[in-house]
Amino acid sequence: MNTVQVSQETAHTLRQGHPWVYPRGVLRRPPALAPGDIVRLEDPKGCFLGYACHSTASAIPFRLLSTDETTPPDEAWLARRLRSAVALRLQLNIPSDAIRLAFGEADGLPGLVIDRYADILVCQFHTPWSERHKDLVVSTLRDLLRPSGILEKDEPDIRRSEGLPPIPPTLLHGEVPETVRIRENTLVFELSPWRGQKTGWYLDQRDNRRLCAAFGRDRHILDAFSSSGAFAVHCLKAGARSVLRLDTSAEALAAGEHNLRLNGLDPATSPSLRGNAFEELRRLRDRAASFDMVILDPPGLAPSKATLPKALRALKDLHLLGLKLLRPGGLLASFSCSAAVGRDDLLRTLRWAEQDTGRTCRILLDLGQPADHPRLPGFPPSAYLKGFLAAVD
Ligand code: SAH
Repeated sequence: MNTVQVSQETAHTLRQGHPWVYPRGVLRRPPALAPGDIVRLEDPKGCFLGYACHSTASAIPFRLLSTDETTPPDEAWLARRLRSAVALRLQLNIPSDAIRLAFGEADGLPGLVIDRYADILVCQFHTPWSERHKDLVVSTLRDLLRPSGILEKDEPDIRRSEGLPPIPPTLLHGEVPETVRIRENTLVFELSPWRGQKTGWYLDQRDNRRLCAAFGRDRHILDAFSSSGAFAVHCLKAGARSVLRLDTSAEALAAGEHNLRLNGLDPATSPSLRGNAFEELRRLRDRAASFDMVILDPPGLAPSKATLPKALRALKDLHLLGLKLLRPGGLLASFSCSAAVGRDDLLRTLRWAEQDTGRTCRILLDLGQPADHPRLPGFPPSAYLKGFLAAVD
């Protein structure tokens, strides 16, 4: 097996539990490595650090797989890891049949994401290493879970950044219907694994929908970045008076209306507004609209550290408009799903908005990822979802 020597600094961060090696951390490497190859990582003194997989085109050329020198990560090892990721989820008592079964690095499976929606699975292969073992992943999942279908649905941009060709949604096993019905927190939703956003559903907001909805009783709510209405349905079922759903995607808003009906709700209680939230919130403010609760769940605004300042300005803008739209005693639920935005960053943008508006916020809840999206203690990017619920005077 090939050996790659990394700098003392990188050896230190690897020992602290951060599984990525950047180009500047590589001291010595064989010239010819193929995408997906496994290498031994050593520190400058030649001490074994772990086995890692290689990605030639990536900004992260090596990702740690294992630190057990006696067990090189072969296919049997991968099948065991996958079984362990699934076994963990089955112990978690998640109140849903839509569950993330494998979450990349957090499960020691770099680039591999597996979401279960009732009896189908949707997979993402976002590293050359995971791509190389696609057949094994599919056969292990079939043995373990007997799904009626397995779909591959990747993010084209991530594949490109790893030097992998983007591929359209592809059936890997059985059948995957146009729409799949799932249960979440006693409610029912339909999603489209082939055409929907990401793998079909924002699983990571499951707990936050329940937690925020519990505060929504009797309130008039604005659900900005509503997607297919999951927050709106939860809030209305918990007794909210109305929820205005705002999103740029007409398809997502239509799915939202369908989900309202599926849960026996009158769509008249939840009108939709198609548009750019940054403009529509401003327009609502200009019309002196007001709400008792505002939910802000934007898409990732900082794809990299370099875009952090711009993302913070956008978050401040959202918080500013959110505060202006809230009546005194209102509630603000706000989220960021960018790894580059820390919890302190998110709160700092709220503080700026407080200063500009003269309003005062009291944080009631810190919000984050559900248990099926585990985090690694030494790997901050794995804790990507941050949020809070605040009372606004
Ligand atoms: N709250 C949703 C998930 C939101 S994901 C849920 O619980 O499922 C982000 C959503 O924001 C996507 O639906 C996307 O279509 C929408 N979006 C992206 N940019 C937007 C913008 N500028 N204004 C309004 N919506 C936007």
